[in-house]
Amino acid sequence: AAPITLERVGKRYPDGTDAVNSLSLDIPAGELVVLIGPSGCGKSTVLRMINRLIEPTSGRILLDGADVNSGDAVDLRRRIGYVIQNTGLFPHQTIRANVATVPKLLGWSRRRIDDRVTELLDLVGLDPARYGKRYPHELSGGQRQRVGVARALAADPVVLLMDEPFSAVDPIVRVRLQDEFLRLQATVRKTIVMVTHDIDEAVRMGDRIAVLSQGGTLQQYASPAALLST
Ligand code: ADP
Ligand code: ADP
Repeated sequence: AAPITLERVGKRYPDGTDAVNSLSLDIPAGELVVLIGPSGCGKSTVLRMINRLIEPTSGRILLDGADVNSGDAVDLRRRIGYVIQNTGLFPHQTIRANVATVPKLLGWSRRRIDDRVTELLDLVGLDPARYGKRYPHELSGGQRQRVGVARALAADPVVLLMDEPFSAVDPIVRVRLQDEFLRLQATVRKTIVMVTHDIDEAVRMGDRIAVLSQGGTLQQYASPAALLST
């Protein structure tokens, strides 16, 4: 089963830029699919379309068989977690408040939110007692990325979209975060679409890799082993 299907998806921005060109992809349940390609090849645009931040100009995107652009946007966001480069944490909110963003929007009880936030901080390896009350600027880059992942997982989404999640940290921390994230994924088993321009990261983390070229055209879609043997 493919929880996410892109059917000949195209995106032309109002200024005439063709960012994505007739892209078809099946993203199977529970797999981590990496989108890789040079800067400007449309990777972020694909994530933003899956998340319904922008609409395709042609084709359609299905999540569990339903078009993401029909139906309720709030319900869609609840089912999709989004992790971006530099995390997009709210600087004037504590770590706990940042992780609680989506549960608050969903109107969870205070008690349920508190329990969930504690559980998530533990899950991503941040001691809740030590870090929960701090502000984002009081954490290292790697710790902020962990908070970004915790926040994206808060409402237990089916799908995780990750846009260069580990690129803002130094190479040694990056490898550690990648390994820890893979261990986390082995337990949470989300359907993940991850954007990177780092081939080592793609090979290390991807169950499948989609290689895009300029203009958002799919070049290859295969397992790391198959890609490396061609
Ligand atoms: P990537 O994530 O692979 O670096 P993007 O999806 O950000 O690529 O961008 C794909 C192309 O679309 C690029 O040429 C970029 O300049 C262009 N683009 C991105 N966002 C916009 C926008 N809002 N308006 C116009 N062009 C855009
Ligand atoms: P990323 O590195 O995540 O691909 P970018 O730096 O390409 O991000 O884009 C950051 C923001 O600028 C995005 O919201 C994108 O839509 C917008 N953007 C990118 N390229 C263009 C462009 N050529 N024209 C207008 N907006 C753009």
